[in-house]
Amino acid sequence: MDIKELQEKAKNFIDERDWRQFQTVKELAINTSVEANELLELFQWRDGKEIDALLKFGKDPELYKKIQNETSDVFFSALAIADHLNFDLGEAFLSKMDALAKRYKTDEVKGKVIKIPEYQG
Ligand SMILES: [Mg+2]
Repeated sequence: MDIKELQEKAKNFIDERDWRQFQTVKELAINTSVEANELLELFQWRDGKEIDALLKFGKDPELYKKIQNETSDVFFSALAIADHLNFDLGEAFLSKMDALAKRYKTDEVKGKVIKIPEYQG
């Protein structure tokens, strides 16, 4: 299923429930943040490397499923924003990836963790 089909699926889900009346871009942005924080909550007070090891070796399928669910909630919310503002999230994503590739040139950042400001004078 491509991203346009996923966006259509999210749109239909919203319309079938008549939830559009409650949606503004502000509410959808807040929801995206709430869902992202539900994802973060799964890791709170836990060691990241230990969690990675558990998940890599299939030792915590319940946590794995929760991560899938919360990541999907974030994605659904992003699709809802794109639908609300009538843009193609796939195209927006590709445009953003192009911008990131220009900002984070491979030969300058490979193997390094650095933050390059989005907008430079
Ligand atoms: Mg959630």
